[in-house]
Amino acid sequence: MTSFKTLDVLDAKGKIVLLRATLNVPVQNGKVTDATRIQRLVPTLQELQKQGARVVILSHFGRPKGRDAAFSLAPVRTALEKELGAPVAFADDCVGDTAKNAIKTLQNGQVLLLENVRFHPEETKNDPAFAQKMADLGDVYVNDAFPDAHRAHASTESIARLLPAYAGRLMEAELKALSAALENPERPVTAIVGGAKISTKLDLLNNLVTKIDTLVLGGGMANTFLHALGTDVGASLCEKDMADAARKIMETARRHNCRILLPVDGITAKEFRANAPAQEKDNADISADDMILDIGPKSTDAIKDVLRQSKTLLWNGPLGAFETPPFDAATMDTAKDVSDLTQSGKLVSIAGGGDTIAALAQAGTVDDMTYVSTAGGAFLEWLEGKELPGVAALSHAMPDSAKPKHPSCG
Ligand code: AMP
Repeated sequence: MTSFKTLDVLDAKGKIVLLRATLNVPVQNGKVTDATRIQRLVPTLQELQKQGARVVILSHFGRPKGRDAAFSLAPVRTALEKELGAPVAFADDCVGDTAKNAIKTLQNGQVLLLENVRFHPEETKNDPAFAQKMADLGDVYVNDAFPDAHRAHASTESIARLLPAYAGRLMEAELKALSAALENPERPVTAIVGGAKISTKLDLLNNLVTKIDTLVLGGGMANTFLHALGTDVGASLCEKDMADAARKIMETARRHNCRILLPVDGITAKEFRANAPAQEKDNADISADDMILDIGPKSTDAIKDVLRQSKTLLWNGPLGAFETPPFDAATMDTAKDVSDLTQSGKLVSIAGGGDTIAALAQAGTVDDMTYVSTAGGAFLEWLEGKELPGVAALSHAMPDSAKPKHPSCG
């Protein structure tokens, strides 16, 4: 794991801490509809407040092209105050006099949220001068934005090289959980990879099979593997042009002693809609107009057997079209099984990726997992074995001894 400093070695009292957070949360009609990411940030905020830091939060929100009120972080401030149970000041810009003047009024232990860093196009260009403008505002930098760590942007990458830099508690927890799963896991390690297509997960699959003991495939992507092995998958979602890529993954898996578990049966329908008449079918019985929209009960039982023999599980992607009943059964059933095994201490379970979290939420088991990553793209890139720029930059941190530029104000 990349080495980086944590809050354990930061004496934040009286310092202006620039905290990069992921406040890119769903907002509808000016209200935050899912505060999970905000809740996950609270431990870092409270720890810094307790130490007497002046906390200045940097975050992006959406993909604005320049300043655009529709992408203001202002509505997020209200949700942040609620979750934190403390007032949060707001400044209309993340650099310059507006930000500086707002920071001047902060007392130790107080929190200020700066406006969307992406209102400046230099942010996504990782512009060093823009990073310097942000760095000039504070004494130290804390990155708690793991979901944005796969992007080399000014507030996630360049800035970490300009100030003493630390990982926040959420970043630390994410990296510890992911390392526990792939770098020095308790074996056997199983990964469940589902979802629609293999074309979006080729790097991930190729990396995983070199590291884990069993790869369970489900969802639409399993159809492509079955097709590559000569099974007729009828009218199912299947990337036929990816058959060679699928065969290559199976070959790499063989070389690394990774077993691949493919579905032996499916839940099929002639049309893809909620409550469409559905049938359980073995692979050999799939007809030309059948769509496999979920894995079948025999396949789910085989997964449960594998899970019972596993010590660590990584899960990304649903086993079927879980948003459309009855094609949710295998995903729901497996989620409950993973929950039971985790809760009884037999399995370390780590899940991530937007659809996976939505599926676990539907099963009511999000809180039963050992760790659920708040990241989408960063979680996937990490599973692909790629270096995340935001994490790498933390290991180039300046020494702790760097003096505060800004004298304490209370
Ligand atoms: P991904 O974003 O690649 O993880 O794919 C998630 C999507 O795959 C979800 O919206 C599921 O409904 C869909 N999906 C999973 N299994 C199937 C399937 N057998 N046929 C069609 N769509 C599926």
